[in-house]
Amino acid sequence: MLSNTNLAGYATFSFDYFLNGGFIACTCPDCKSEINLPIQIYHSGTLLEKLADQYSMHLIDELVERNIVHLKDEDSRVHYGLEKYILWNMDARYEVIPCKACSNEFLAVFGMAELQPGREEVQFKGIWKLNS
Ligand SMILES: [Zn+2]
Repeated sequence: MLSNTNLAGYATFSFDYFLNGGFIACTCPDCKSEINLPIQIYHSGTLLEKLADQYSMHLIDELVERNIVHLKDEDSRVHYGLEKYILWNMDARYEVIPCKACSNEFLAVFGMAELQPGREEVQFKGIWKLNS
């Protein structure tokens, strides 16, 4: 289960933001430690499909039900070449971030792609606490 609260919020970034050392930051709701997520362009994150192996399929279903990620439309030309779970026209990726000071774990969901020549975007969907 994911927490209801998105701890980091939704935002779209240019690649430059992260290439210049930018990162996502939020606070652990229980111990107030800072949680940082640097995103390495074309390296960070794992395709969302793998979350089923690492955690459970329920977690992916929850992300779909809550409209955080979407299922690829197999008939869409725009979606050609994308994986099963997408954001807006790009593959959905995730990272699990452990809190440095307590036993909490957090799930970050994002994607990155060159949507058109010269239009490089990181779509950051948020960070949620993983509730066991
Ligand atoms: Zn904590």
